[in-house]
Amino acid sequence: MNNNHTFSQKILSWYSKHGRHNLPWQQNRCCYRVWVSEIMLQQTQVVTVIPYFERFIKRFPDIRTLADANQDEVLHLWTGLGYYARARNLHKAAQLIRDEYQNNFPEDYASVLALPGIGPSTAGAILAQALGQRHVILDGNVKRVLTRLYAIEGWPGKKAIENQLWEHATSLTPDQQLTDYTQAIMDLGATVCARKPDCTSCPVTTFCLAYQQGTPTAFPTPRPRKTLPIKQTNMLVLQNEGGEILLEQRPPSGIWGGLWSLPECTAEQAKDIERWCQQHLGLAICETQAQAVLRHTFSHFHLDITPILSQVKSPANHVMEASNRVWYNTQQPESLGLPTAVLKILNQ
Ligand code: SF4
Repeated sequence: MNNNHTFSQKILSWYSKHGRHNLPWQQNRCCYRVWVSEIMLQQTQVVTVIPYFERFIKRFPDIRTLADANQDEVLHLWTGLGYYARARNLHKAAQLIRDEYQNNFPEDYASVLALPGIGPSTAGAILAQALGQRHVILDGNVKRVLTRLYAIEGWPGKKAIENQLWEHATSLTPDQQLTDYTQAIMDLGATVCARKPDCTSCPVTTFCLAYQQGTPTAFPTPRPRKTLPIKQTNMLVLQNEGGEILLEQRPPSGIWGGLWSLPECTAEQAKDIERWCQQHLGLAICETQAQAVLRHTFSHFHLDITPILSQVKSPANHVMEASNRVWYNTQQPESLGLPTAVLKILNQ
């Protein structure tokens, strides 16, 4: 592209009229607020993020409060957003900033990039938006815009394609007005050059190869299709006399790491579920009732969950001895992080 300056000017002037200027993280803008928003916005749309962001910032207004919080509470405020490693990393990074940077968010790119859960684009977005530093961003929206501007074929998740996109993103990024430019290019991708592009409202049609070829929707090349494997599990919905449900905390890493879930058993174990409950949970249960299968899809597999309902007969003291188990009162829920699939089962 010959005239990168004109490109950024067009984007900036479009942004001043049509961009988003009232997002909560654009008010009282600082590294901490922009950081939280950027992490929430990975894989999640702005409209979904806004109420989560507001609740999160209300409870954790600064790095210190977040660092000192209990992980359960952090995960609780993340419940429903998915990709929980993001919340665990945010919490870990806040503790690191508290301990190594005296609660001051680092202001140099290398230190930001070294924090857990922060990749090159997120590090650039935080420093550009909060401090106006010149860094390049390449999130999903920007990738979509660039593949169309340059009619780049090939799935952007492939290293070679991603490298090309970084080069283009770098050459287009201006030297000034970085706070606005960064938001502008993301907004263009989110609102105009969306999955279904609205080219008639686009300020950069004259720069866009895909537009000139009449093929905007041919880009970006989709991820090669893979049939996801299907895994199966049984989740026990065990209710005590008080109507509370037994939850177990999952190990700290892996799928749903650190979240509170329902006890699980295999199809084989479910054949003699009374015995399994006695042996593993120390609970005698009444007759069981299997519910319809619920499918939850992760990025790399489907999980088919069969909820099995039962009432607990015996007193529940034994089970309470384990620190990774709680009786959960669905009417007055504690501040625990729950996977969306488990919430759905409980709501049913
Ligand atoms: Fe996207 Fe259309 Fe603008 Fe090209 S012209 S950048 S395809 S909205």
